Amino acid sequence: MFKVVKLKSILVVLAILMVTAAVLVGVILCARKAKSTTAFSPLPRKTVVIDAGHGGADPGVTGVKTGVKESDLNLKTALVLGDIFSSAGFRAVQTRYGEGSTVSGAFDKTADMEARRQTVLRTNPDAVISIHMNKYEGPSRRGVQVFYSTDSSRELAEELQKHLNQTMNVPTLGRGFDPIRGDYYIAQNGTVPSVIVECAFLSNPIDESLISDPDYRLRLASEIECAVARYLDK
Ligand SMILES: [Zn+2]
Repeated sequence: MFKVVKLKSILVVLAILMVTAAVLVGVILCARKAKSTTAFSPLPRKTVVIDAGHGGADPGVTGVKTGVKESDLNLKTALVLGDIFSSAGFRAVQTRYGEGSTVSGAFDKTADMEARRQTVLRTNPDAVISIHMNKYEGPSRRGVQVFYSTDSSRELAEELQKHLNQTMNVPTLGRGFDPIRGDYYIAQNGTVPSVIVECAFLSNPIDESLISDPDYRLRLASEIECAVARYLDK
């Protein structure tokens, strides 16, 4: 019994090490391609605001299989994305760092959105990335979808969606998507390129399982950072 457990533990540790190594290699390769500003560079660091959607009394949508809250998955994805940007030499600022709302007291959607806007205005970022989870009436829809609102954001949205199609959507779904333009408050930040990434459909049980896995979130976050860094370093 002990030997079996020990062997299992060793296999689990090996698997974690392999995934971590693969992601690190990917980040390094991506950073080289993108010529990111590093901590040793004389150039000023670029700032990225990462916005974990919802939070506190506003859970967003919930998983069809386990009832997992979108707000929790958004936060976990946003925090790992911030870590990757920081490791690549960017200044990463989050609109929220904890599970609670961006505003204290009774939940107020207008005040919540205003608090997020204030973080953007205060930090004067080079890009804004809002992290959300998607939902559809039926369970069939899957994949990673990029949304944007302004002309200043179109190029980033297109490049990010194209990269996520190549690395995430086509390998798992056999198809990609176009970025969708619409009237989204968090994506309207003047001339600052701003996108929303809907990371998975919580109305689909496979997407729900994938995005609930820390290794998958790390891989998705690495690919988001790769495309955004490449865009900002042009
Ligand atoms: Zn949402």
